[in-house]
Amino acid sequence: MGNSNMLAYVKRGAKDKPGFEKIPVPEVKEDEVLIEIKSALICGTDLLVYNGLLDEAIYPLVLGHEFSGEIVEKGSDVSDFEVGDRVVGNAITHCRKCFFCKTGRTNLCTSFRHLGIHCDGCFALYVAIPDFCVTRIPEGMEYDVASAVGPVALVYHAIARVSIRPGSVVVISGPGPIGMVAIQLALISGAKVVNTGMSVDSWRLEKSEQLGAIVVDVQKENLKDKVLEISDGAGADIFIETSGAPIIQQGFDILKSGGEALLIGYSPKPQPINALEVVFRELTLKGSSGYNHESWKKGLEIIADHSSLAKSIISHVFNFDDLEKGFQVMLDRKAIKVAVHYPS
Ligand SMILES: [Zn+2]
Ligand SMILES: [Zn+2]
Repeated sequence: MGNSNMLAYVKRGAKDKPGFEKIPVPEVKEDEVLIEIKSALICGTDLLVYNGLLDEAIYPLVLGHEFSGEIVEKGSDVSDFEVGDRVVGNAITHCRKCFFCKTGRTNLCTSFRHLGIHCDGCFALYVAIPDFCVTRIPEGMEYDVASAVGPVALVYHAIARVSIRPGSVVVISGPGPIGMVAIQLALISGAKVVNTGMSVDSWRLEKSEQLGAIVVDVQKENLKDKVLEISDGAGADIFIETSGAPIIQQGFDILKSGGEALLIGYSPKPQPINALEVVFRELTLKGSSGYNHESWKKGLEIIADHSSLAKSIISHVFNFDDLEKGFQVMLDRKAIKVAVHYPS
């Protein structure tokens, strides 16, 4: 692309508001491809970066990490892709050399980098990423659907760490996009699903209800009573926290003995827990971070079979020029996910 410039949505520092700037189109290294972005989604993580709440973010930074597009240039070592290929990019790049990469746990790579947090992301007309982080989009799959592979892969990876069985009572905290994917994958597994939120989430809780979840506004209803009612007094089998609220202990309180708590949401502050309860009631507490490369591929298979799952989390579409409006509607909790369409 020579020395040309491109429009990008850049945040200069933790306290600065992001805005559009002209910056150089990234130079492609030997093992990288340059992708012209066609579609991107705004994620809850982008909102944390937008608000300067993610300490690990490295500025100045182009925001965004869920995207698909077309390869327009490739480095000299790239042999698996051609210019013109329709692809989706895995935002979590990894080293392929450390213990975790060699044992398949690429999401735990000791030197992983996340687009839109540690290096420039996709809210720009072009992004350069290593070829091993790129996957061809199946024939006929829309760009917006392909862009949703990240959240689907993340939830697939997370819920594979607990045992959801037909009839399990699963309580999912948070009616955001991760919560909504979790609702649908748990329902596919045959679980009874409760989704919780606060009064400010009423618009999103309505969407969860339409998907088949029993919804509880925890500011209006007693969650424990509701869970006991639908579980014949036993409590929930599984508690999944997706919102980032510091509520592990409340999760323990609604679990039956032997139950499992799974943390996906980012709650930056330490949280007190009653460890004795974990012992006496044989509770299990697990965390899940992102997705490894296998889960990423599985995520793409899931949305190829269930494009409605990807579409169910896209509630709004904005043009790239109106990205700021897209962030506002997400920050106001009036959207599940915003898809961003780029000029062609
Ligand atoms: Zn994301
Ligand atoms: Zn590694």
